[in-house]
Amino acid sequence: MGSGQVTDWQGSHVTVAGLGVSGVPAARILRRLGARVTVVDDGDDDRARARADELRALGVTVRLGDGDTLPEGSDLVVTAPGWRPDKPLFAGARAAGVPVWGDVELAWRLRGPDAAPWLAVTGTNGKTTTVRMLAAILEAAGLRTAAVGNIGTSVLEAVTEEKPYDVLAVELSSYQLHWAPSVRAHSAAVLNLAPDHLDWHGSMDAYARDKGRVYEGNRVACVYNAGDPATEELVRAADVEEGCRAVGFTLGTPAPSQLGVVEGILVDRAFVADPRSARELAEVSDVDPPAPHNIANALAAAALARAHGVPASAVRDGLRAFTPEAHRIARVAEVDGVVYVDDSKATNTHAAEASLRSYDSVVWIAGGLAKGAVFGDLVAAAAPRLRGVVLIGADRALIGEALARHAPEVPVVDLDRTDTGAMRQAVEEASRLARPGDTVLLAPACASMDMFTNYSRRGEAFAGAVRELGAR
Ligand code: ADP
Repeated sequence: MGSGQVTDWQGSHVTVAGLGVSGVPAARILRRLGARVTVVDDGDDDRARARADELRALGVTVRLGDGDTLPEGSDLVVTAPGWRPDKPLFAGARAAGVPVWGDVELAWRLRGPDAAPWLAVTGTNGKTTTVRMLAAILEAAGLRTAAVGNIGTSVLEAVTEEKPYDVLAVELSSYQLHWAPSVRAHSAAVLNLAPDHLDWHGSMDAYARDKGRVYEGNRVACVYNAGDPATEELVRAADVEEGCRAVGFTLGTPAPSQLGVVEGILVDRAFVADPRSARELAEVSDVDPPAPHNIANALAAAALARAHGVPASAVRDGLRAFTPEAHRIARVAEVDGVVYVDDSKATNTHAAEASLRSYDSVVWIAGGLAKGAVFGDLVAAAAPRLRGVVLIGADRALIGEALARHAPEVPVVDLDRTDTGAMRQAVEEASRLARPGDTVLLAPACASMDMFTNYSRRGEAFAGAVRELGAR
């Protein structure tokens, strides 16, 4: 199991860690290739048992209730990306000299010699939006492509599909990058870098290092955010192929080798024959929604597509064809002159800050599980835009304290309930604080699991409550 492509799986014993969205396809594919496969997982609930039964029917061994002990005779561990590096299973693997790959590493090793190149996207926020924009642009150029990776469609399935792709738009999380040391993208972008998942990575440095791996070995372009020096720093630290270029994107006028915005037009000064010239790509109004951070996402997607040689017209057509996914700055309704916006996917402070910056006068619904975040900077930056705040969820006091310190004049409603009716009350309270022309924005800056199954459910509860408000 050294470096390079592995073609012969017969007789090898692979342990797959995690019976989830990456583990199940990994186990199936490895089995199909002839490996002996054991899946291990800490969980042992009904869902895990049902999945285990399906895999057992394919000849896979499944051990539930113990994800910590390395099965005897393992030659390789393929882990779910979310498993923390300090889990005992990995210490066991290290002690036994057994390599550990993530699902993305496995996918990379399984690619054939003529496999589709990868255009990779990572960053703290905006990954899913950007890879979907990128796929839309590539499609508009007539290429067979797919948005895969952390986005939900397994990159493993994409690389083993019978009909080959021309190019893949790959979203990579910091966890996936951690476990994927030999991936070499055609080109890659780091959208932004802000503290997140530090409990998993151990430190901001370790988190940045894992994100920076996306640039390793890039062939054509390392795309960075000119407004976020930490991303440029990662490009500098990366070891890339000869001739690979650093290409920045900016919301301002682009310098040579950058993409940017001039008078409402997205322009390219990187992938043009004459470095003094600029190529018009699309209008800001072609980007949905045209919020600043989303224009940045569009520029990053455009840069990767242009690195792959896509014409300017395809950038415009792709951006026009793109529709944002649910719960990402989604306009729900206008009621009594107030617009209600669902950005339930703003699960960290960096995302909520971008979201709040998109509106002039906001009633902000915030709170949930803080995951160790601090809120002072966010609240201080948002204070001038806040008409009022409604706080929900387990860690709402942390935001409440930041408001008391940095925005003491802003009215705050503190909702001390976490039952299913809480969101309805939050929306009612917000509607009382709002005046015509305001935006009521659900951008919680926190995870949702204290009150909801996930951020989608939280957004749905919000939208449902807004519709009730409108029907009254
Ligand atoms: P990810 O896949 O990285 O979680 P998404 O595209 O799903 O990113 O967006 C998540 C949230 O992050 C959105 O709801 C939005 O509030 C915010 N967001 C999107 N793009 C950016 C960006 N470029 N900078 C800051 N925040 C962003």
